[in-house]
Amino acid sequence: MQTATIIIFFIFGSVFGSFFNVVGLRIPNKSFLREKRSYCDYCRRQLSWRELIPVLSYVAQRGRCKECAAKISPLYPVMELITGFLFAFTYYFYGWSNQLLLGLLLIALIMPITVSDIKYRKVPNQLLLFFLPIFIIYHLFYPLTPWWDSLLGAGAAIILLLLIYFLSKGGMGLGDVKYYALLGFIFGLEQFLLLFLLSTVYGVMIGMVKMGVKRTGRKTKLTFAPFIGLAALTVFYFGDVIIQWYKQLF
Ligand SMILES: [Zn+2]
Repeated sequence: MQTATIIIFFIFGSVFGSFFNVVGLRIPNKSFLREKRSYCDYCRRQLSWRELIPVLSYVAQRGRCKECAAKISPLYPVMELITGFLFAFTYYFYGWSNQLLLGLLLIALIMPITVSDIKYRKVPNQLLLFFLPIFIIYHLFYPLTPWWDSLLGAGAAIILLLLIYFLSKGGMGLGDVKYYALLGFIFGLEQFLLLFLLSTVYGVMIGMVKMGVKRTGRKTKLTFAPFIGLAALTVFYFGDVIIQWYKQLF
C-alpha cells in the first residue's frame, strides 16, 4: 500500500513538475494568461496530449520536437523528474500530515522560481506575491514557529541580504533578497540562518566546479535561486537534525 501511494505521489509530482516548468517559463515574459496550450518553443506548434506526458514524451521523442526536430531543453524532463521525486520523498518522509502539505507548497514555490532563474535569471515577483498569503494562511492553521519568530526570520533575511545586496553592487538580485525573506518567514530565525549558510555553501561549491570546468572566471553572474531552493529543501527535511547535532557540539 505504502509503495503504491509513493508511486502515485511520484506520478502526480511529475505532472505538477511539467506545470511548474510552464509557470516558471511564462510568468517572467507575461505570456502565462495569453497562451493557453503548450507549444513548441521553436515552431510554435501546439502540442498534443501525447507530447505532454512528463518525462516519457521526452524519452519517446528522443528529446526533439516531432514537427521541426528542434532539440527540447533537457531542463523540462529533469525538472519533472525532480518534482516527482520530491513529491514522493515528502510523502515517504512525513506521511499524511500538515508537514506534507507544507512540503508540497514549498516545492510549488521552489520549482517555478528555479526554472525562471535558470532561464531568465529572474525571481518573479508575481510568484512571491502569490505564495506569501498562502504561507500566511498555512501559518494560521499550523504554526511551525511562533509569529514573532517568523517575523524575526523574515526581518533577519531582509537586513542580512540587503547588506549583501549593497555590498555586492548588483552581484545579487533584489529578487533573491525577497525570496530569502519569504523563506525566513516560513522557517523562523534559527532555521533561516541554517538555510542561508547552506545556500552559500552550495553556491560556492557549484561555483568553484563551474569555474574549474568552463574557466569562465569570476565575472559570470551566478544564478543563485536554485541554491536557495536546494537549501530550503535541506532545511525542510533535515533542519531539526542538523541544528540538534550542532547544539550537541557545545
Ligand atoms: Zn517544433
